[in-house]
Amino acid sequence: MSTGFASPAACAAHRVAWGHPERPERLQAIAAALEAAGLAARLQPLAPVAVEPALLAEVHEPAYLALAQAEIAAGRRELSTGDTPLSAGSWQAVLAASGAVLAAVDAVCEGRLHNAFCAVRPPGHHAEPARGMGFCIVNHVALAARHAQRRHGLERVLIADWDLHHGNGTQEAFYADGSVFYFSTHEYGNYPMALTGRGYAYEVGEGPGRGANMNRPLPSGAGDAEIQAAFAELADAMERFRPQLVLISAGFDARHGDPLGGLRVTDEGFAELTRMVLEIARAHAGGRLVSVLEGGYDLEGLGLAAAAHVRELLEA
Ligand SMILES: [Zn+2]
Repeated sequence: MSTGFASPAACAAHRVAWGHPERPERLQAIAAALEAAGLAARLQPLAPVAVEPALLAEVHEPAYLALAQAEIAAGRRELSTGDTPLSAGSWQAVLAASGAVLAAVDAVCEGRLHNAFCAVRPPGHHAEPARGMGFCIVNHVALAARHAQRRHGLERVLIADWDLHHGNGTQEAFYADGSVFYFSTHEYGNYPMALTGRGYAYEVGEGPGRGANMNRPLPSGAGDAEIQAAFAELADAMERFRPQLVLISAGFDARHGDPLGGLRVTDEGFAELTRMVLEIARAHAGGRLVSVLEGGYDLEGLGLAAAAHVRELLEA
């Protein structure tokens, strides 16, 4: 078995104003870096599948989905619910991105692939059930978790999020759930903590979800040692949760040199995080792992970090 790779051309249809960091060139940078590292030819291409409206409605409120599509159709340049650019092709890009992640889940859950990396945009982990924000319109990784449960009958899914920023949307989607464990490392005080009031270590889930939410905010300047210590805690927690599928919200804006933040993870640090999460997948989930791009805004650094990540997926 092998590693799948999805990066739909339609993701480029989501355009942004000049100077915006979440730009189409991000995916080109990843493709070029995978090629330069000699990894591209070893990956199995994955094409997006259709995203059923019923699945979208399991994660997002129908009124919000209608609003987002109406604002795109009306030619608005920014989503009214939060800091997110829009263009005429944004919904097409969103469906391609989500559909690519669902295709990866299908391939991994059906045993056709060992694992997969989805280089998609716009990103998703800030998109809450009732509002898009933080460059995110629809939460791809949340859809993927629900899809794995509905289509493939899995009971327990882990979402491990090493993006620079707290994935408030993913936390919100599953906070009272218990069947999807959300784990996040992020830079303390960075977006969107002040806005949402979320992302603190004391937020552990509620009701049936109690114990299935784990935040490890890291101080500005933290790097490989600090983030790996947090992921070691995750590995311990997974001995109890025993996920049947592992999803990664792979944000490479936690890398040193990223313009949006102050964490200092190295490329080797991302390789080690990848090995740690692969080990969780091996121990509990038959190795089933799907990684989904979130942030990462220094084009060169994004490519190098993604290549270090994918090299480990191929070695698994
Ligand atoms: Zn981010």
